[in-house]
Amino acid sequence: MTAADLTFRSPATLAEALTELAGDEDAIAVGGGTSVALLLKHGLIEPRRLVWLGRVGGLGEIQAGPDGSLAIGATVTLRELAASAPVRRLAPALAEAAGQVGNPRVRAMATVGGALAHADPRQDLPPALLALAATARIAGPAGEREPPLAGFYTGFMETVLAPAELVTQVNVPAGPGRRSVYLRFTPASEGDFPVIGAAAAVLRDAGGLVTGAALALAGAGPVPLLIPAAGELAGRMPAEADIEAVAAAAAAAATAVSDQRGSARYKQAMAAEWTRRALRACLE
Ligand SMILES: Cc1cc2nc3c(=O)[nH]c(=O)nc-3n(C[C@H](O)[C@H](O)[C@H](O)COP(=O)(O)OP(=O)(O)OC[C@H]3O[C@@H](n4cnc5c(N)ncnc54)[C@H](O)[C@@H]3O)c2cc1C
Repeated sequence: MTAADLTFRSPATLAEALTELAGDEDAIAVGGGTSVALLLKHGLIEPRRLVWLGRVGGLGEIQAGPDGSLAIGATVTLRELAASAPVRRLAPALAEAAGQVGNPRVRAMATVGGALAHADPRQDLPPALLALAATARIAGPAGEREPPLAGFYTGFMETVLAPAELVTQVNVPAGPGRRSVYLRFTPASEGDFPVIGAAAAVLRDAGGLVTGAALALAGAGPVPLLIPAAGELAGRMPAEADIEAVAAAAAAAATAVSDQRGSARYKQAMAAEWTRRALRACLE
């Protein structure tokens, strides 16, 4: 197949986009195209129709609710997400994750929907959204649904998205008193994927008691990993030993394989270390 065999569509409405996708099993959605372009170039996908979402109305906005929740449209770019004042204020882990993806060229094009659907387990956005208990609104031929992100990833580069379904919005619930952080480690250039990324979100009451906590990792397995042990910080004034228990759980949960970024054992140790750092940053 050559580029000449490819049809490019740019629907103006969600209904049109869904029709384009549902009507052709060789059609794929395109957000910013940063991954699609590479997959096409290397012959890893062979779609016949590219359905670009950039012109679809209503998907490009970030809205902050009066309660402090966030509704983020699927075609918001990672550059817009990183720079958004409400996102930086209400969900700093998300802005920090978006601001560290790849390089400025990638961030200018890549979209929130693409960053979720691509489902490479080393991606930066998914752990931040998992720690923030986000949900993904999905539209498709069968209607709309909004699963929690915690169940969105089903395997290596696999998600709950059925053919012709689109992510249309990501919703981050309000978290009064919540602190959140995203930290990542890459030994290569700044633009490289992280070896390990760690997102933490901690809610505390006025007295400093933790009322809720979540920790999620990138690069620690075939899917972004939520570490349930972080939830056990709730009801405590966490001490270093409590953080250490979550770090040990993160290392135990990490199932990353050995590759050019490090051995499986090294990645387990890094999962523990970046868990400690992310939790300490939220609790200090
Ligand atoms: C040089 C380079 C460096 C990178 N470094 C990093 C990094 O450090 N950290 C990191 O996290 N990522 C990194 N990435 C990956 C980057 O995050 C993804 O390429 C990007 O997020 C994908 O978004 P996109 O909008 O361009 O998606 P596209 O390339 O348009 O699409 C990707 C996939 O998502 C699907 N899709 C797109 N939008 C939707 C939607 N709304 N609903 C359903 N499916 C959809 C497409 O069909 C396709 O399967 C890097 C990429 C490059 C090219």
